[in-house]
Amino acid sequence: MTGLSEDLRLPVPCPSCGSHLMRVSRVKNPDDKVHCASCGKMICLWHEAQTVLRQGPGSQSEALIESAVNRNR
Ligand SMILES: [Zn+2]
Repeated sequence: MTGLSEDLRLPVPCPSCGSHLMRVSRVKNPDDKVHCASCGKMICLWHEAQTVLRQGPGSQSEALIESAVNRNR
């Protein structure tokens, strides 16, 4: 069972453990969940991760991740 998901680095760290390494399904549907590769916490959806990747680090990206994490808590 390999190749179902792949790792990516987000400019914003996981709010729970501080890791930047995330995991997403290979299919990468916009609504696929992105999880922290380290602690397994759900961070955001793939389309939100793409926005963060495009924006890079900064307060806008942090706010996006924060609201996504709060929504999914
Ligand atoms: Zn984590």
